Amino acid sequence: MWPGVSRHLRAQVTPQEYETWFAPLRMRLEDRQAIFTVPNRFFADWIHDRYGALLGEALAVVTGRPLEASFEVARARPMSAPLQQAPAPARPQGLNLNPAYIFDSFVVGPCNELAHAASLAVADNPGQHYNPLMIFGGSGLGKTHLVSAIGNFLAGREPISRVHYTSSEAYSNELIQAVRFDGIQTFRDKYRQVDCLIIEDIQFLSGRERTQEEFFHTFESLFQAGKQIVLTSDKLPRDIPGLAGRLRTRFEWGLLADLQTPDTETKIAILQRKAADKNLALSRQVAAYLAKQPESSVRVLEGYLNRLMAVSRLRGREADLELARQVVGPLASERQVSVEEVFRTVAAHYGLKVAELKSSRKSRDISRPRQVAMYLARRLTNLSFPEIGKALGGKDHSTVVKGVQRVENLMAQDPELTDTVRAVENAVRQGKRTS
Ligand code: ADP
Ligand code: MG
Repeated sequence: MWPGVSRHLRAQVTPQEYETWFAPLRMRLEDRQAIFTVPNRFFADWIHDRYGALLGEALAVVTGRPLEASFEVARARPMSAPLQQAPAPARPQGLNLNPAYIFDSFVVGPCNELAHAASLAVADNPGQHYNPLMIFGGSGLGKTHLVSAIGNFLAGREPISRVHYTSSEAYSNELIQAVRFDGIQTFRDKYRQVDCLIIEDIQFLSGRERTQEEFFHTFESLFQAGKQIVLTSDKLPRDIPGLAGRLRTRFEWGLLADLQTPDTETKIAILQRKAADKNLALSRQVAAYLAKQPESSVRVLEGYLNRLMAVSRLRGREADLELARQVVGPLASERQVSVEEVFRTVAAHYGLKVAELKSSRKSRDISRPRQVAMYLARRLTNLSFPEIGKALGGKDHSTVVKGVQRVENLMAQDPELTDTVRAVENAVRQGKRTS
């Protein structure tokens, strides 16, 4: 019966969704129930919430009667329990991963739930269901922490996996050296022998044709051999300019899991966790004060915490709310977003000049980015609609209102645009351009 059900499903979802959520399913029938075996608890919840109705429909169409879909996890033990302890028997030499970045020290919230669950699943079953796994998100949101946790786990359990961790830039430099000194075969052998390859910041493959070509072959040989590939990026594959189509499609085969800016509660939990890891006392009140700063990056928040703790020790003063205000207040206000920063980042993301955003040209490849600029200016600064219009080359108040509404409406229907706008938003918040 599964072939019929799967045919129906394939017609309803994208190939990527199918591969991610339906290909791993095992189905059996009992009375009036279709029981699906899934890799883990998270997977069960996710598929139930997002695809439960669709599955029910597919079953009804194929069997001609209503069937209840239920899910059971493939193993008796919850998979996160053994993983989180991650006791490394012996740290393999030469593994350049930060040993503090393990699953156990990663705080899970709504902003990173999928990426965390996918990383656990990869650590549990490398090369199986999510290959490649791509963790995608702005700077300082935990990409390196998560992919390192996968690497640390795999390198530290029996049987020990050969984990190689690098960045796309380092890979590229290494390749150049190899070509120059006639060591290309050694280079290839090295990359084809690993069990898990982790490559960070693949957005830097942009425009590097020779590196992309070589990486394509590395990717293919690992993938064919069932080895795990883990990637990070601050852009979606389709937003990386000059990325070869064949790499892009391969990156999209696997699971793309994004990291969002944490909500205040998650930020508080992360700060408390960091303080506890360092044996520092941090009251909830002070953690909440730090978490409420207009700051999206966990890295920057951690910086505030470290600064506060250092000053507290230096002055022999308790790290209370008053000290936090003195120390962090000025740092945080320096990081307020200006409307020009918003325009610069939007323009850079779309490969336009700020002057083009501010112009009155109406072609769609300029007007859509311009509307995104309006939307983000409204969201990230305190400016009113008329002020935004003025900053944007003297546009009308009503033009700005319409532009913002247009983006809001489009985002409600178009997940691609939503991803793009969020990526630009994260980039603005971190005061950094996306290209
Ligand atoms: P990225 O690679 O995305 O720029 P990192 O992984 O380097 O970000 O994270 C920046 C800092 O924030 C690290 O110290 C990391 O441990 C911390 N961090 C981010 N997210 C979390 C989280 N959910 N729980 C605990 N620490 C986190
Ligand atoms: Mg990083």
